[in-house]
Amino acid sequence: MSKIELITFDLDDTFWDIRSTIINAENNSRKWAEDKIGEKIDWGTFEDFMKIRSELVREDSTLEYDLGMLRKKTIAHHTKKFFNDPNALNKFIEEAYMFFLGERHKVTFYEDVITVLEKLSAQYKLGVLTNGNADVNKLGIGHLFDFSVSSMDVKSNKPAQGHFVRARELSQVDFNNTLHVGDHPVNDVLGARELGINTAWFNLNNHAWDIDECPPIQFNKWSQFISLVEDNYGN
Ligand SMILES: [Mg+2]
Repeated sequence: MSKIELITFDLDDTFWDIRSTIINAENNSRKWAEDKIGEKIDWGTFEDFMKIRSELVREDSTLEYDLGMLRKKTIAHHTKKFFNDPNALNKFIEEAYMFFLGERHKVTFYEDVITVLEKLSAQYKLGVLTNGNADVNKLGIGHLFDFSVSSMDVKSNKPAQGHFVRARELSQVDFNNTLHVGDHPVNDVLGARELGINTAWFNLNNHAWDIDECPPIQFNKWSQFISLVEDNYGN
């Protein structure tokens, strides 16, 4: 049985619901932009939004992990026609992006997440491994973690090895003494498992594990997590 020394966590859909967070952030950002510009903006449908993003990524593949730049380019796509002066446009895009980031951090934590992290931080090294652009320091929980790794930091997205390898470098803890926790079967569970990292699947909606014959340890309430670790790893 591996002794766990480091626990790493995904953020979006692991500590909070990302869909409602992003929808609110998007709506408030659109309203902010229209108020600032003083005109109604044609934002198109959700499909248009996704199409613009995938076209931008096709033109520049680094946008796949640079969500900040992708967001700025998307803002520019919708608003550049309102600006004659490129400096004014750039200033607007920076402000719009900062506004969006602020909104994107207005998350509602799942029940018990903070209490559980506080308890765990007394016993383990804790780290964050995220493909998104949430920042635990902006959420007031940065002090609970020893480090945080984003896709920008490692220029790749999980399930690629980048985040996991960086976690080992930063913590000096071997993969077999690490437990990675996340909601995504591929990005979190398979990505970590591939390297020999222990995994726990946050399975909020009780989905079936249909990827292979080896379902991971799983839980759907954060209040279950500490005993799950104790029962499986005996720490
Ligand atoms: Mg996630």
